[in-house]
Amino acid sequence: MDLRANVPDGPIEKKWTKHRADMKLVNPANKRKYTVLVVGTGLAGGAGAASLAELGYDVKAFCYQDSARRAHSIAAQGGINAAKNYQNDGDSIWRLFYDTVKGGDFRAREANVYRLAELSVNIIDQCVAQGVPFAREYGGLLANRSFGGAQVSRTFYARGQTGQQLLLGAYQALERQVGLGKIAMYPRHEMQDVIVVDGRARGIVVRDMVTGEIESHLGDAVVLATGGYGNVYFLSTNAKGCNTTAIWRAYKKGAAFANPCYTQIHPTCIPVSGEYQSKLTLMSESLRNDGRIWVPKKENDARKANEIPQDERDYYLERKYPSFGNLCPRDIASRAAKQVCDEGRGVGPTKLGVYLDFADAIRRLGEDAIREKYGNLFEMYERITDDNPYKVPMRIFPAVHYTMGGLWVDYDLMSTLPGLHVAGEANFSDHGANRLGASALMQGLADGYFILPATIGNYLGGTKLDKVAADHPDVKKAESDVMARNASLLNIKGKRTPTSFHRELGKIMWDDCGMARNDKGLRAALEKIPTLREEFWQNVNVLGDGQELNQSLEQAGRVADFLELAELMCEDALERRESCGGHFREEFQTEDGEAVRDDRQFCHVAAWEYTGPDRPPKRNVEPLHFENVHLATRSYK
Ligand SMILES: Cc1cc2nc3c(=O)[nH]c(=O)nc-3n(C[C@H](O)[C@H](O)[C@H](O)COP(=O)(O)OP(=O)(O)OC[C@H]3O[C@@H](n4cnc5c(N)ncnc54)[C@H](O)[C@@H]3O)c2cc1C
Repeated sequence: MDLRANVPDGPIEKKWTKHRADMKLVNPANKRKYTVLVVGTGLAGGAGAASLAELGYDVKAFCYQDSARRAHSIAAQGGINAAKNYQNDGDSIWRLFYDTVKGGDFRAREANVYRLAELSVNIIDQCVAQGVPFAREYGGLLANRSFGGAQVSRTFYARGQTGQQLLLGAYQALERQVGLGKIAMYPRHEMQDVIVVDGRARGIVVRDMVTGEIESHLGDAVVLATGGYGNVYFLSTNAKGCNTTAIWRAYKKGAAFANPCYTQIHPTCIPVSGEYQSKLTLMSESLRNDGRIWVPKKENDARKANEIPQDERDYYLERKYPSFGNLCPRDIASRAAKQVCDEGRGVGPTKLGVYLDFADAIRRLGEDAIREKYGNLFEMYERITDDNPYKVPMRIFPAVHYTMGGLWVDYDLMSTLPGLHVAGEANFSDHGANRLGASALMQGLADGYFILPATIGNYLGGTKLDKVAADHPDVKKAESDVMARNASLLNIKGKRTPTSFHRELGKIMWDDCGMARNDKGLRAALEKIPTLREEFWQNVNVLGDGQELNQSLEQAGRVADFLELAELMCEDALERRESCGGHFREEFQTEDGEAVRDDRQFCHVAAWEYTGPDRPPKRNVEPLHFENVHLATRSYK
């Protein structure tokens, strides 16, 4: 497999500008002759579809929700990073670039990260022009707060609902183009396969989720902006519908899957409370600006939080990481929480919890100031737990949140399947082995508003594409494969629900490929997953039929894909015999539990290639070179 990243030559600050100047252009009058299919209408896909249509391309956009504006991006709470340096606290494009490379534990491609930092400033201007109501200072300037892994305040926010406000901006831009007839919008349509003709992505097969009809849509380029796959763990902070289907099926059509084992476990989520829970709730990282994390110094301390005196509390992040304190990166904060719970110092009924305490901040700033900043998050916490966080500390615990792995893309965001571009959380992204808080929204919007509109033009302008007929054998074959797969799921008529398989898979993944991984556990998971998958294909019970709205069928299709992806994730985690970022292999740690990387053997992206149904996938590598940021051991002490 050819993993050519196509990073332009020249100094890092000039690469994107020069590349843009060198790109092939499509004449304005010719743009309408091209059709671009965009799957996903979250921040990445919504921004991409709107911008491509604004340029003049004909766009078809797809999502499985009933409206484009219900994409999972709407759930994002805390904020979006940008190197505006409004605080005059020493921020710059260079510093955001450096923080992101270091935060990702030196496992991201430098040139992409630099471009992301560079474009971050444009994103804020674009969103402000759209009317996104970012928080402002008294004097009118946009306000900022701090997020983990940075010592500057560069996170722009709209209370605790930044994703919703940004998505409304992208959605308005999208709807404008729908109104102008440049975008045809297909809500409630699930993409189930990519159509490949002459080695290029030329279309998609979708299922109309209301009528059950299978349809093909053809075009000149395909964009997947279909979000992350954290729900492979069953319990995560992702919306219930988030899945891997689009990228997984593209993988099986030739798009390499990069670093599938890189999963982000977020330190501040509401702890699991029972066996039948189906969703976890995030408490935004922004809360760590004012909340202090602690556990009792004593093991099995049964006292209530407010009864434990100050000198019997361990503010363990402040103690271990004095420079960054409560705002150390997520992977580090999550592991530290696990460590204190493993020592028997966890709190709450399950003892899998730590305190996030606002008492000091309330004393210092007053309850009103805290309400002003985080009111909706506090309210959400109280509704779920029935505890008032203004009076008692929140209880939090790490939970699966984000996936840094995804389809491999080159500098132009094109996968190894020519014509197939991948944006947002669905690509293997710019975050290396650990994403810094508030950087996913930045990446999704950089991809959608600024990168794809340029690079897709470059692809279309430089590629000869013949029209594909609707009855082309490759189109018909993709359609019939999709139909056959759905029919076989419906025909099994076994005894277990798709959810029961999903829950069992999630437990295997959390136990053996979660916050900490080791050789023995990963090998055990690699035995258990294929057995579970086999049982699924013999014993799943999918209710109803294919010619109607059928959520049981939708779910079964997604669980079937998770059952395959999970195996690749464990394979990837097993092969990467080092600890880096969110990938913590217990065999590779220092005495005090810090990650030990092996740059000699693993300073690369692992990109997995599908080789057929009964053959092992092939691991290819893209070496990573650090010419601008010195490859060093990460330290937040
Ligand atoms: C609770 C929570 C809070 C977060 N807060 C922040 C934050 O404050 N700051 C930050 O930077 N990041 C945050 N993140 C991460 C961030 O929200 C996501 O990474 C980002 O929004 C993903 O955007 P996206 O456009 O890539 O995908 P999504 O917004 O997930 O959109 C995916 C789209 O793809 C469509 N789709 C998927 N599969 C198919 C298919 N097979 N067929 C058709 N359509 C399909 C969906 O319908 C949807 O339209 C948060 C994440 C969570 C879970």
